[in-house]
Amino acid sequence: FDEIKSFDSDIAKAIQDEIGRQEDHIELIASENFVSKAVMAAMGSPLTNKYAEGYPAKRYYGGCEYVDVVENLAIERAKKLYNCTYANVQPHSGAQANMAVYFALIKPGETVMGMNLAHGGHLTHGSPVNMSGSYYNIIPYGVDDNGYIDYDEVRRIAHECKPKMIIAGASAYARKIDFKLFREIADEVGAFLMVDMAHIAGLVAAGLHESPIPYAHVTTTTTHKTLRGPRGGMILSSEEFANEYKLNKSIFPGIQGGPLMHIIAAKAVCFKEALDPDFKIYARDIIDNSKALAKGLMDRGINLVSGGTDNHLMLVDLRNTGVTGKEAEHLLDMANITCNKNTIPNDPASPFVTSGIRLGTAAVTTRGMKPEDMDVIAKAIVMLLKDAEVNREQAMKLVKELTDKYPLHK
Ligand code: PLP
Repeated sequence: FDEIKSFDSDIAKAIQDEIGRQEDHIELIASENFVSKAVMAAMGSPLTNKYAEGYPAKRYYGGCEYVDVVENLAIERAKKLYNCTYANVQPHSGAQANMAVYFALIKPGETVMGMNLAHGGHLTHGSPVNMSGSYYNIIPYGVDDNGYIDYDEVRRIAHECKPKMIIAGASAYARKIDFKLFREIADEVGAFLMVDMAHIAGLVAAGLHESPIPYAHVTTTTTHKTLRGPRGGMILSSEEFANEYKLNKSIFPGIQGGPLMHIIAAKAVCFKEALDPDFKIYARDIIDNSKALAKGLMDRGINLVSGGTDNHLMLVDLRNTGVTGKEAEHLLDMANITCNKNTIPNDPASPFVTSGIRLGTAAVTTRGMKPEDMDVIAKAIVMLLKDAEVNREQAMKLVKELTDKYPLHK
């Protein structure tokens, strides 16, 4: 860091400010986390200097003997962690992992079913503003009036539209997903099942959410959410399927150039951490905290979509509070609580305003916070939603007590 400071004080200041922000805010963005020092160090290593197009032992550049060690370790650990026979650790992000699967399995114009963005799906599952929605014929499915995936409706739509691929997985869905049932439906109509487990990858690794691996033809994920690794993506499958559909080729040379070897090293470190028995305790604590935060909010009269949570996140339905999602994000930010506005199913407000916020507990759990702390956070949130002007100081005090008690970058 001193080198940045002496050469580029502008960037050094922005980094310093961001470190301070992370330290003194309560981070409730469900897709974020804080990586270990070992993961961080791997990302900042000289591996960033190396070009390594291709795959271990089959590179287009010389001097790859050590980065081959790194990528092989990452692959082997990923396969062990998720109990599968194929892993591609090169996707630069979750979006790239998904794009590679589209590229490998289906042709432009073919039909794909994905979860409606407005019901909790991800942009890459078929939003019109994403490549997926512009190149493929997307038929969305969603949740029922109780906020649960409507599997009967998924089946009905699948039989009607005969998709080539069904995508299961979400960015804002608080309940367990029945991958077995998704596969049954996919088989009934002869579709591929792709599971995007980005949000719950850490919970799956810990055995606290059913694994999609036995059911999905292909599973994609990010590595930086509950899995607590570097920002990046990954594709998992069986060796036979990956060979038949040339999944490696779909990433390189299909949609990417040289792999980010420093990030792949950090993924390998993250997988080693996730294979450690302590990671199971961490994942269990994430869920305990999530349930405690949900209870703290509901006990204070706040509604949650589906009435609770099974995982690391919850979707707050703000319609009875008189505050929009956009306003709530701002009000919480005034007292150093960070979250994001989020549409709720059948949201009457626009996606820029929304009637909800999404809250997650992966990052606060990494800081060491406990269920009793979640109740304090719930109290602060409700105070701010009720009257931020009057309660801001008091809420700030609660936040500061917690951030002081659980220091981050020490
Ligand atoms: N898939 C899901 C379910 C996600 O929630 C996200 C990110 O939020 C992605 C894919 C995309 O990941 P990335 O931002 O790394 O491209």
